[in-house]
Amino acid sequence: MTDSSPSGPVPECSTIDIAPTISKLLAVPMVVPTGRPLSSVEVLAEKHGCKRVVVLIIDSLGYSLYERFTPIMENTRKLAEKGLLFKCRSEASHTSPAIASIFTGYRPEEHRIYSTGAIYRERDKDPENPRLRSILEWGARAGRKAAVVIEAEGAETFRGILGKNGEIYGVSDSEDILAYDREIAKAAVRALGHGPDILAVHLRALDRFSHRAESWDELKTAAKAVDENVGKIVSGAGKDTLIFLCGDHAIHGSEKWLKMATEEEQKNHLDNFVALIVSFS
Ligand SMILES: [Zn+2]
Repeated sequence: MTDSSPSGPVPECSTIDIAPTISKLLAVPMVVPTGRPLSSVEVLAEKHGCKRVVVLIIDSLGYSLYERFTPIMENTRKLAEKGLLFKCRSEASHTSPAIASIFTGYRPEEHRIYSTGAIYRERDKDPENPRLRSILEWGARAGRKAAVVIEAEGAETFRGILGKNGEIYGVSDSEDILAYDREIAKAAVRALGHGPDILAVHLRALDRFSHRAESWDELKTAAKAVDENVGKIVSGAGKDTLIFLCGDHAIHGSEKWLKMATEEEQKNHLDNFVALIVSFS
């Protein structure tokens, strides 16, 4: 089910709407960003309760890719079926700026975080710049327990800004991206055991496979693995948890993957639409 009728169009939004929506759900004050809270998510949260938010970033989960993989991504599909599915425009085609937009609620030209190193540079220039502040940091400032589970170098950028209750789990990058994602899922489940108010997790297998794999079957392997990890994390999230599962940008390596695409799929790719599912555990 979507928040429109099943046969109606899937509602559209932007990745910069995620942070302000979470701000509203958890009553975490933030300087009003460019993105806007999603009212249909507020309705869902009211209905099901929302004490905690988990943001699951699925690297490269474009909207059309998600549609194609719906039959094999069972855990993800179940989330969409009981929650909301959006066609969500990503504001960037690369990971660092795209994730920064999800976390801050601003477009790349506003936060200017085009790489991991840029976060430090921009902070040095203006430590109080609200456009650099993630929803995790806003949460920590409001006394919420924030946790992040991402690649080790990215995790370091959260050092010292998540308050005394904050938890940072960095997983070292690996040539074996399936093993890497399993470690991420394990750490996420551990983090959930400590009762965070807001947890952000980044699963990367689909993106790595999009660059290196040559066949659709290989890409399916990655999608299945991602879905298994989604299942583990969702099982570890308690009641009253709202889950935001979203892609960061449409898939890379489009010259390989768009060969069989329909006109609509190609358009979704060019428009950089990702899947955003908001649901509960
Ligand atoms: Zn990415």
